[in-house]
Amino acid sequence: MKVLVAVKRVIDYNVKIRVKADHSDVDLTNVKMAMNPFCEIAVEEAVRLKEKGIASEIVAVTVGPKAAQEQLRTALALGADRAIHVATDERVESLAVAKLLKRVADEEQPQLVILGKQAIDTDNNQTGQMLAALTGWGQGTFASKVDVKDGTVDVTREIDGGLQTVALKLPAVVTTDLRLNEPRYAKLPDIMKAKKKPLDTKTPEELGVDIASKVSLLQAEAPAERKGGIKVGSVDELLDKLKNEAKVIS
Ligand code: AMP
Repeated sequence: MKVLVAVKRVIDYNVKIRVKADHSDVDLTNVKMAMNPFCEIAVEEAVRLKEKGIASEIVAVTVGPKAAQEQLRTALALGADRAIHVATDERVESLAVAKLLKRVADEEQPQLVILGKQAIDTDNNQTGQMLAALTGWGQGTFASKVDVKDGTVDVTREIDGGLQTVALKLPAVVTTDLRLNEPRYAKLPDIMKAKKKPLDTKTPEELGVDIASKVSLLQAEAPAERKGGIKVGSVDELLDKLKNEAKVIS
């Protein structure tokens, strides 16, 4: 069974986001970038399926600038067999990414596509769903458990107030939630080996996908600065402040 895993290059989750002085976007100058955490979980799940003898090949794919090859190399170090870089310097919206992934899926014919549930930079939470719509495949989003059977995959989903398990006919699209697994770290020998694994580059034009934006980014704002805290001297003072200053109790 071939598994396609979509990985996105995003700002490292430890980095404090800065907005450009003209508020046109987030400032990426000299900022540490990394694989989107939910995509790390997607790679880990694919690798576990391979270790169980269920997956035979893992293909990692990214859409982004040349630098995004770093995240593909990370996926290769973690256990992917080969990688596909869809190269573009444009800001690519979810629908365009989904169309590109659909074209890659047409060529690769995977049985399972695993994506993160959400990219932590744009917080869209829609690429997997759009890919499922474009392919006509079933979708199991927010997966906290993935159990591949003969021709189907059972996906346990984290929903409000509990868990839901759905069975999808393969091929299918799965998006990962936080509790699906705990991703491993790449070991140095695997990082070295990953440099020799195959990495193909394609362009959106070659894949026949128009990636022109339908949405313009008008403005980016940093969150309001948090005020420093204070220490109160007694419970009575705390209650007084909650009542009369914060006005959160009466
Ligand atoms: P989003 O819908 O943008 O929140 O992203 C959800 C998931 O879609 C991510 O975790 C990735 O698995 C995939 N994805 C989004 N953008 C890209 C991209 N540029 N390249 C590869 N995968 C992507």
